[in-house]
Amino acid sequence: MKTIEQFNKYVMHSYGRYDLVLDKGGDVTSVDEEGKKYIDFGSGIGVNSLGYCNDEWVEAVCSQAKKLQHTSNYYYTKIQADFAKELCETARYTNMFFGNSGAEANECAIKIARKYSFDKYGKGRHNIITLKNSFHGRTIATLSATGQDVFHNYFFPFVEGFVNVEANNIEDLREKLDDTVCAVMFEYIQGEGGVNRLEQDFVDEIFKLCAEKDVVTVADEVQTGAGRTGKFLCGDHYGHKADLTTLAKGLAGGIPIGVCLSGEKCANVLVPGTHGSTFGGNPIACAGGLAVLNTMNKDGFLDDVAKKGEYFREKLMALPEVGSISGLGLMIGFELKTKDAHDVAKEALEKGLLVLTAKEKLRLLPPLTISYNEIDEGIKILTELLS
Ligand SMILES: *Cc1c(COP(=O)(O)O)cnc(C)c1O
Repeated sequence: MKTIEQFNKYVMHSYGRYDLVLDKGGDVTSVDEEGKKYIDFGSGIGVNSLGYCNDEWVEAVCSQAKKLQHTSNYYYTKIQADFAKELCETARYTNMFFGNSGAEANECAIKIARKYSFDKYGKGRHNIITLKNSFHGRTIATLSATGQDVFHNYFFPFVEGFVNVEANNIEDLREKLDDTVCAVMFEYIQGEGGVNRLEQDFVDEIFKLCAEKDVVTVADEVQTGAGRTGKFLCGDHYGHKADLTTLAKGLAGGIPIGVCLSGEKCANVLVPGTHGSTFGGNPIACAGGLAVLNTMNKDGFLDDVAKKGEYFREKLMALPEVGSISGLGLMIGFELKTKDAHDVAKEALEKGLLVLTAKEKLRLLPPLTISYNEIDEGIKILTELLS
């Protein structure tokens, strides 16, 4: 309790937190200050993609810290060049920009989309379509982009130029995608919005209309990307490649990073002086990211993520309390028939299982390296809770 009191005295109360002080972790298990163990099906909101303190990742991060922890972006480092090459080749993109978070990655995409349009068509074509129920971050611009009224309070005025379209409503999309629009930004699976997948037809229409009108497509894969869904990018499931794709959360296995990947179309929009970040491309983050990519590029790794996702779904479907299950791979949302998801998350914690919620659903984003035994252990606790 001492830690919590001290924390609350000195840290702003901007989060609703559980009374849990985590001290250490290994693989899928974390341990609190009293030594109690928790199976972590949340992995820090999909960030610890290789679990806690994965050996290869620890080795990569520690040896980089011992060698060079930061340089300014006036200079080059090999670790940045190596990570960028591996990422662009893995994701099949032309080039990328380095930031430190999902919101920053999206800020970068917003700036690139607007400048692409400005350079080519001049003023007046700055609107960006985002979807209702989306989530794009907590900065003023990304809050403005977020298509949920609950986020549009207190901080007025918000940034102009975001138009919301209802997800999966093709008519609404056609109507609003007019000559003032420079970009359409979307999550293939809305994470914070409740683990809701976009329909293939709707995504096809986004890409068709945007191609016709030279409008930039921006896939916010901050949550769905970096292997989470069983492919490196969720767009690969849909057979589409957005002009810009943003990644963050799990990309560096637990070190702050956010990147904006670009295809040919927007690869040269940013020129010296138009964008930057002091910490962007931090060598330790790049070392962690490279360890993540090297693991993901091992034969069969992503197929295993997909298989483990299927296994999870089978196990969950067998529980009478579980209603519909959504998501893809190891991004899993499910409804409860009678219980409240937030109550269950709290009870789960007491029983030694960490889970997330998204709107009225329970949400699981376990480490991609989770074993079948660990899945079984967590499901056992969930089964007790939901019976
Ligand atoms: C988490 C998230 C963000 C924000 O990322 P931060 O690192 O918290 O800034 C943006 N978009 C999506 C889809 C996310 O899930």
